Order: sequence, then structure tokens, then C-alpha cells
Amino acid sequence: MNSIDKLIKIFSEFPGIGPKQARRFVYFLITRHEGYIDELKREITSLRANIESCVECRRYFTKSSIDKKLCNICADSTRDNTSLMIVSRDVDLENIEKSHFFNGKYFVLGGTVPILDKNPEQRIRLKDLLVLLNRMSENGLKEVILGLDANSEGEYTTDIIKGAVSPITEKYSIKISELGRGLSTGSELEYSDPETIKNALKNRS
Ligand SMILES: [Zn+2]
Repeated sequence: MNSIDKLIKIFSEFPGIGPKQARRFVYFLITRHEGYIDELKREITSLRANIESCVECRRYFTKSSIDKKLCNICADSTRDNTSLMIVSRDVDLENIEKSHFFNGKYFVLGGTVPILDKNPEQRIRLKDLLVLLNRMSENGLKEVILGLDANSEGEYTTDIIKGAVSPITEKYSIKISELGRGLSTGSELEYSDPETIKNALKNRS
């Protein structure tokens, strides 16, 4: 495989990018000057070096100091600790934050579980979620909101999480609600506008 084909293969693995677009990216890069390519290399390298995963919600954030382990949301004492929203990806969290309609805490699963997949632990951060949930439950958590996409994979993941968290939520009488019920079928949270998110939150059940 030559470098053109290799790069096309890499770009094809990006979310939402097909082989045709991947090929366009590669030919775009070929025509760029050296400075552009150098900057791109530098930024990709520093992405890994400067990004940390929050020890609580698991979202990625830019390290500002060496010993910072919590993202700005988890470190914010004005956020509501009685409400936890579970989302699949960082982009979903960011979109909900942009709407300003939710002031609780989050947990980012890091993906969804494909239908009939038998090893959900390998697809999502289920263990980390249970650790956080146990700790929050002992500190007054009242509601878990499942904020997954309103499509079949989102629903399947929702069912898996409900099953996994039920021993904890039952023990502490924590309410479980679903944001997906307030979204129209097929909606992806990442692309939902603030008004849709507001309604989904209001109509969660
Ligand atoms: Zn966090």
C-alpha cells in the first residue's frame, strides 16, 4: 500500500467520512505547502500530549496544569450533583452544554453498543459509570438521565445501561429517565438544536 492509499484508509475511518471524501482530503494535502503539513503534524501530536480524560465524567479536556484531574464541569461546585446525564460521546455533551438547559453532571460512555453485541464492556465505559454512580448515589443523586441518540443503537445501549445500573438506582430510589423519548425518532443529540434539547429535557420520562 502506498502513502496515498494508506492515508485514504486512515481518513475513511473518521466518523462520517467515506472513501470518496477521504481521497479528496489526501489530494488536498498533497497540494498544500510544507508549513501547512508541519502545523498539522504538530497539532495532531500535541492533541495526545495536551488532552486528559476527566477522572469523573471521562470527557476529554485540555490540560491547563499538571495535576488537574477534573474537567471544568466536574470541578464546578455550582453544578447540580443530584442529576447525572449519561451520553455516548463528547460531542453530545458539548451540544447539550451549548443549549444551557442542563446544569447537572455528565458521564461520557465513549460510544454505543451495536445491537446484539455480547461484550458491552468493551464498547462503553460501563465499569467507570458504575463507580461514579455508586459515589454520587451516596452523595444525594436523585435522577439519572439517559441522553442517547433516538435510534436503534441508542435504544439498545439505553437498555443495557438500565439493566446495569438498576441494582444501584433501586437501592437508592433514584429515578431513571430517557431524553430520547423527548426526541423525534432517528434524532442524534450531536445535531439537535437548543430548542429540541430543551423540549427533550422537559418531556423526558
Ligand atoms: Zn468531568
